[in-house]
Amino acid sequence: MPSVRDRHGRRPRPSADSGVSTVDLHSHTLRSDGVLQPVELIRAAADAGIRTLAITDHDSLAAYRELVQGSAMPAPIELIPGVEINALAKGISLSDGELHILGFGMDPDDQAFEAALAKQRSARRIRFERTVAVLRDAGMPIDAHLGHIDLTRDDALGRPTIGRALIAAGHATSVEDAFRRLIGWGGPGYVAREGMGPSEAIEAIRAAGGVPVLAHFSEAPSQIPLLRELKEIGLAGLEVHYISFDRATVELVGAVARQVGLIATGGSDYHGDTWTYAEAHAALHVPDSVGERLRVAIAERRPRQAAVEDGRAVEPQPGVADSSSR
Ligand SMILES: [Zn+2]
Ligand SMILES: [Zn+2]
Repeated sequence: MPSVRDRHGRRPRPSADSGVSTVDLHSHTLRSDGVLQPVELIRAAADAGIRTLAITDHDSLAAYRELVQGSAMPAPIELIPGVEINALAKGISLSDGELHILGFGMDPDDQAFEAALAKQRSARRIRFERTVAVLRDAGMPIDAHLGHIDLTRDDALGRPTIGRALIAAGHATSVEDAFRRLIGWGGPGYVAREGMGPSEAIEAIRAAGGVPVLAHFSEAPSQIPLLRELKEIGLAGLEVHYISFDRATVELVGAVARQVGLIATGGSDYHGDTWTYAEAHAALHVPDSVGERLRVAIAERRPRQAAVEDGRAVEPQPGVADSSSR
């Protein structure tokens, strides 16, 4: 089992909120940098009490497709198609240099969207290969320590993988150490990410019928002009109930969402390397109303759904897979 330790790998602070959440709109599986198979995640979420789940793997709808096209949903869960796109915040002054854009309710068969995601995945591969080359030139070759990795899997080619190889080669003591000294911004092995910017990500999600939402943006209260700008482009929501936000941050970011006119979403950002799903679930409360509001936003993005409201006969809405209807 890989031990992923990226920015999501930190152990979140438990929220003071109580009550059993039935909604989780942010999670990862082995189809990106999580450690559970999609089926395992669904079962763990259902066991914890989740009834509405979005798997938001980086640049990939593979988990959704597998689960929905498979013989049966393994648990009584409504699965919303989801994705997370790490967008390059060029020209925007942010602590991270990236804005993570979640998308919900896209048509999983949309060819243009799949092509855009494939391009993102190949940009990740190029960055990985460049980083290995830069480290080799800097006298820190890690090639011999990548042998056990399936390099045909774009989703494995993240910087945590490089960090682990640097540890194996004796150049770093931990993945955090590798990021801090070697491959993080300003380090001798740092290679800039390429790929979509926030407006491209928002537009791609919308063009596939999805609802774009800005993830875990704790800087929101000081970035209201940026949020208004992104809303102009089509941003529809802000992740408010995020697992590592303390109660005060949830309230502040929630107030910003209301002020700017963005819907609130929420989720565990579960990857699986730090704790069990049940532990993550116990530390986060996402109100049921958050799931209901997102469902409305997805319906509003779907012309077929609009046709239902007009009273025209149409096929069932494909955006949300519900195991109870299977
Ligand atoms: Zn993220
Ligand atoms: Zn995430």
